[in-house]
Amino acid sequence: MDDKRRVCIIGAGPCGTSALFHFDQISNSSTEVVCYEKSDTWLGLWNLTWMTGTDKFGEPCHGGMYKHLWSNGPKEGLEYPDYTFTDHFGKAIPSFLPRPVIRDYLEGRLVRKSKSDLKRFIKWNTAVRYVRYNQKSDDFTVTTEDLKTGHTVDTNFTHVIVAVGIFNSPEKPYFDGMETFPGRILHSHDFRDATQFKGQRVLVVGAKYSAEDIALQCMKFGAKSIVVSYRSSPMNYNWPVGIEERPLVQKIQGKVVHFLDGSSTELDSIILSTGYKYKFPFMETSLRLTSSSTLYPSGLYKGSLWLQGGNRKLFYMGVQHQFFTFTMFDAQGLWIYRHITDTLSDKLKSCEEMKEEAHQWVQKCNSLKDIHEQIDFQADFIKDLSDGTGYPPDAPKANKFFHKWDNEKRANIVTYRDQQFKSLYSGTEAAQCSKPWFQNFDDSIGAFV
Ligand code: FAD
Ligand code: NAP
Ligand code: MG
Repeated sequence: MDDKRRVCIIGAGPCGTSALFHFDQISNSSTEVVCYEKSDTWLGLWNLTWMTGTDKFGEPCHGGMYKHLWSNGPKEGLEYPDYTFTDHFGKAIPSFLPRPVIRDYLEGRLVRKSKSDLKRFIKWNTAVRYVRYNQKSDDFTVTTEDLKTGHTVDTNFTHVIVAVGIFNSPEKPYFDGMETFPGRILHSHDFRDATQFKGQRVLVVGAKYSAEDIALQCMKFGAKSIVVSYRSSPMNYNWPVGIEERPLVQKIQGKVVHFLDGSSTELDSIILSTGYKYKFPFMETSLRLTSSSTLYPSGLYKGSLWLQGGNRKLFYMGVQHQFFTFTMFDAQGLWIYRHITDTLSDKLKSCEEMKEEAHQWVQKCNSLKDIHEQIDFQADFIKDLSDGTGYPPDAPKANKFFHKWDNEKRANIVTYRDQQFKSLYSGTEAAQCSKPWFQNFDDSIGAFV
């Protein structure tokens, strides 16, 4: 119990840095932490790169972030209870924020609210290549590669936290005749700038957030027309003129795309907004989470602790489909740290009890009927993580913002980002944006704040 704990965090995105943040708040001499980050900066997806395919080290490019991305949820739904937007910016700002403004806020908390310099725990440009559990010594060997030198090292840890994100490995469907299409075909992971599709007739495949946002984004930046093609069901928004929905692609013949309803049309580019595969190739098989996108992947106690191997010393962060983001990751980071440092009573539960509890959550998740039940389910998940850890209890109350947000999207998909919300913590009413989102082309922090 009082042996030294050596904790490995893989990834310094919003999840990994939340774990680091809590470690720093409650650190003690019997716990050591190292965070490996394969890039040279933190906050993962919230960084923009022009690169696609492979990065400067020849590694798969991590992020699918694009220019001019604005958060698709209100900031009041992702605000940290201990560091509000008003704390950071010193005044009221609008509810829906462009990427650089979000990144600035996230970094502000890490720098201004931490007790020490969190960057000192991070080994940059270092990719985790393999994680295996050692039965005999009851610990993990983590193999890392210094991407600058190619030097590989094995290090042992008592605990491992996997925080590499779930939007890294694109799901790429095949449609008959794809190779005959003369225009560009790309996955949303490689989408960087909507202006490239100006004047074009674009096909967007998929019916969730990427498809919705990329269709709107292309329209905003001057595409001629968009067809959004769905597999299960249409999004059925009140789309602006120029965007229409059709069933799934049946086949492609040159420029002509045929759909399952028998219709066909000529198109110039295809953007597959078909989501991602869960991919943790560096985890040994018994430690590897496999799942499709869900609010509660199975095999994880508290949606966090891996139950199929690793003697309950392996954790996954942020592997849930996300309405809530930063506060969910934050509550999870705190729960994991309290669990590792033995301050939670559920440490005493047996593996069977944990499995049964996890199973009940998965069953409940499978019975959810609509988006509003899903939002409330995720709020309950955060509450479950927060009970007993001391995480501020109000975070789940942001569910009311997500209900309102969905209703506003249903009312008008083009103007939902022009609405204002009121902070749960500071009581600040959001400012009105100087221009409506659809007409606003300047995302800089200066222009925005
Ligand atoms: P990431 O942000 O992906 O960070 C993971 C980190 O792990 C990266 O820094 C990566 O370099 C590192 N890493 C990966 N593999 C290794 C390895 N083997 N070794 C070492 N390091 C490794 N959320 C919102 O709240 N609002 C939004 O508007 C929003 N927009 C989004 C738009 C897009 C296009 C996408 C894909 C997601 C969006 N999200 C949004 C959700 C997003 O998942 C979260 O905001 C958040 O970035 C998740 O944090 P994370 O730490 O889990 O993963
Ligand atoms: P996603 O939520 O997993 O959705 C994937 C979509 O692709 C689903 O509609 C799915 O169809 C469809 N699909 C999957 N495989 C298919 C196939 N073989 N053929 C046809 N269709 C297929 O992924 P996502 O939309 O990329 O979202 C990922 C994350 O990015 C989310 O967290 C989202 O919030 C975030 N995001 C945010 C913004 C923003 O504006 N800030 C923009 C983009 C993305 P079914 O419906 O049939 O399952
Ligand atoms: Mg992370």
